[in-house]
Amino acid sequence: MTVKRICLLGATGSIGKSTLDLIAQHPDQFELFSASANSDVEGMLRLVQAFKPTQVCMRDEAAGQRLSSQLKALGLAKTELLIGGQGLNNLAAHPSVDTVVAGIVGIAGLLPVWSAVSTGKSVLLANKEALVCAGELFVQAAKRSDARILPIDSEHNAIFQCLGPAYRCFTRPASVRRLLLTASGGPFRQWSPEAIRSATPEQAVKHPNWVMGPKISVDSATMMNKALELIEAHWLFAMPAAEIEVVIHPQSIIHSMVEFQDGSTLAQLGAPDMRTPIAHAMAWPHRIQSSVESLNWSQLRELQFEVPDNKRFPSLEFARHALASGPVASICLNATNEVMVARFLKGDCAFGAIFDQVEEGLSRFAGRFPIPTGLDDVMAIDTEVRSFYAH
Ligand code: NDP
Ligand code: MG
Repeated sequence: MTVKRICLLGATGSIGKSTLDLIAQHPDQFELFSASANSDVEGMLRLVQAFKPTQVCMRDEAAGQRLSSQLKALGLAKTELLIGGQGLNNLAAHPSVDTVVAGIVGIAGLLPVWSAVSTGKSVLLANKEALVCAGELFVQAAKRSDARILPIDSEHNAIFQCLGPAYRCFTRPASVRRLLLTASGGPFRQWSPEAIRSATPEQAVKHPNWVMGPKISVDSATMMNKALELIEAHWLFAMPAAEIEVVIHPQSIIHSMVEFQDGSTLAQLGAPDMRTPIAHAMAWPHRIQSSVESLNWSQLRELQFEVPDNKRFPSLEFARHALASGPVASICLNATNEVMVARFLKGDCAFGAIFDQVEEGLSRFAGRFPIPTGLDDVMAIDTEVRSFYAH
């Protein structure tokens, strides 16, 4: 069996750690060829000691310099160190890399993901913001280079599994009536509108079912995560937004569903542990052990479903509006959200301000720019919107 050489972008984060766990379980099948982080020098050092990758990259320059001295001091300088944005792009495009795991958070992940897609890698996509912002351009780049995209966002991976082994992303699946994205509803599912508006960062990052990085945890609390996932599903599965529904399912056992024209609905179920979708995509088209616990059917008493409340959580409506308005709107939606989530986490604004400003950002900026024709345009729109909201 050939060993797959993996480039892990965002190796020190939540997706990164789950991926490392799987690589460690299967040294005969996977090699950590390269890994990246932003500024977590300690995390990166531990990883170099454990996995001895050929290359690593720190996005943050000062962190890169610190890591450089530590690698030398510990006799680990055999691992080549790249620093900065260009280093990330080079890491993802390295000819020895077979598979790139896109686990950077936010639009910061777009350029390295683009580099992986353009060089025809297998891309295991967690970084939904990259696809949300680049949209059609991303799809075209993947088609041009024949890069294989395997979704590891759990909902999209569930849908991908339900579509069967012959399905390839970016083509409209045959005989499908609609996609059903499940959503936990987040920590504020049952809160009053007033309580939601004044929720604290500590309350927002406490997800009932999943352990994730801080940004996506806040996105789950605003339901912006599902909003971004709706846009992600639209591009990945070439389905119109009107044929993608969101269902609240508080237990997070059903990870999503596909309804076919004949009335059959297929679902993918499992414990809420990201190692399942990551393992599925890493081993695709085969299966490997993930060490994820089995579902306990004697304890699982009920699976509940609810309709999303768009009044308390308007994010899904923002996403539908953005998709109907064209590609600039999705970039504006994402940029405003990223800035506002970062401000909220720093204690710089109220939870409710995220909704207000995302709505404001869409109406202020979505009609202001021409349709992007390349990544430079995407990044320029992002930068302008971002600078307006970052006080
Ligand atoms: P984390 O915050 O846990 O990790 C983010 C990773 O990205 C870290 O390695 C971090 O490095 C790195 N990073 C952060 N900012 C930058 C930057 N500017 N440039 C380069 N690298 C950067 O995030 P998650 O793992 O939770 O999420 C990653 C992505 O996966 C997101 O897009 C999220 O939506 C998606 N996803 C996550 C799921 C989950 O369960 N966590 C589930 C489904 C999707 P450092 O540690 O040095 O800061
Ligand atoms: Mg998800």
